[in-house]
Amino acid sequence: MNAPAKTEDFAIKIPDGVYAETVLSVEHYTDHLFRFRMTRPAGFRFRSGEFAMIGLMVGDKPIYRAYSIASPAWDEELEFFSIKVPDGPLTSHLQAIKPGDTVLMRKKPTGTLVLDALTPGRRLYMFSTGTGIAPFASLIRDPETYEKFEEVILTHTCRDVAELKYGFDLVEEIRNHEFLNEIVGDKLKHYATVTREDYPFKGRITTLIENGKLFADLGVPTLDPDVDRGMICGSSAMLKDTKELLEKAGLNEGANNKPAEFVIERAFVG
Ligand SMILES: Cc1cc2nc3c(=O)[nH]c(=O)nc-3n(C[C@H](O)[C@H](O)[C@H](O)COP(=O)(O)OP(=O)(O)OC[C@H]3O[C@@H](n4cnc5c(N)ncnc54)[C@H](O)[C@@H]3O)c2cc1C
Repeated sequence: MNAPAKTEDFAIKIPDGVYAETVLSVEHYTDHLFRFRMTRPAGFRFRSGEFAMIGLMVGDKPIYRAYSIASPAWDEELEFFSIKVPDGPLTSHLQAIKPGDTVLMRKKPTGTLVLDALTPGRRLYMFSTGTGIAPFASLIRDPETYEKFEEVILTHTCRDVAELKYGFDLVEEIRNHEFLNEIVGDKLKHYATVTREDYPFKGRITTLIENGKLFADLGVPTLDPDVDRGMICGSSAMLKDTKELLEKAGLNEGANNKPAEFVIERAFVG
C-alpha cells in the first residue's frame, strides 16, 4: 500500500478544477468504517446533503470517488464518513490518511438529497443504511432542516451495533452544541436498528415500516403524503424496497427541478 501523498510531493501535478485540502482529524470506528475532517477551501459552496468527488494521488495518478459531504453547509471544515473496502482502489489508501495529509476534491458538488427537492411538509424521514447516513449527518446539523420541518426522524440500519456509533456520536454532538441544541430541541428522533446482532431495535427498515413497528416505537402515525416527507440513502436494493413502500403510502419521488414528497440517492454503486 502506498502512503498517501503530501501536498509538497505533487504540488505541481494537481489538475485544474481540483482543490487540495489538508486532513485535520481521523477517527476509526470499526475495521470497515472511519470518518475524517479536512480543511474547507475558501469559496467552496454546497447545499447540505450534496456529494462531491474526493480523491487521492496514488502513485502519479489521482483516483476519485463520490462522497457525501457529512458536515453541514455552515461548517468551516468538511467531514466525510467512509467505508474501508479491502483492495478498494480509493479506500485501501484513504483509510491510511493522517492529519497533515492531502485529499483532493473536485470543485462542483451535486446531489438530490437536498431540502429544495422536497415540497413543504411537517415530518421529515431520513432513511439510511451503512455509510448512507453521511448526507443526513449534514442535514441534521443544518438549522434550515428544523425551520422547514417540525419533526425530523433519522433511521440508521447496520449489520452490527458497532457500526451505529457514528450516528450516536452525531446526536450527542448536537446535544452538546451551543446553538444547535437549542434549534434542534426535541425535534430530532434517532432510530437505530441492526440486522445481525441482538439489539432492542432489530431488523431491516423496510420490515419495520411494513409491520408498523417503526411508527409504534416512535409514537407517530403511519406514513401520510399530506404531512410526511422522505429522503433515502443506501444500497440499490434498499432504495428500491424503501421507495416502493413510500409510493404505496402515496408519496411521489421528487428531484431538484421537480420537488415532491421524497428523494433518493445511492450510498454506493454496486
Ligand atoms: C452519490 C454517492 C455518494 C457516496 N458517498 C459515500 C460516502 O459518503 N461514504 C462512503 O464511504 N462511500 C460513498 N460512496 C461510495 C464511494 O464512491 C466509493 O465507492 C467508496 O469510497 C469505495 O471506493 P473504492 O475505490 O475503495 O472501491 P470501489 O471500487 O468504489 O467499490 C468497490 C465495492 O465496494 C462496495 N462499496 C463501495 N462503497 C461502499 C459503501 N459506502 N458501503 C458499502 N459498500 C461499498 C461496492 O460493492 C463496490 O462495488 C458514494 C457513492 C455515490 C455514488
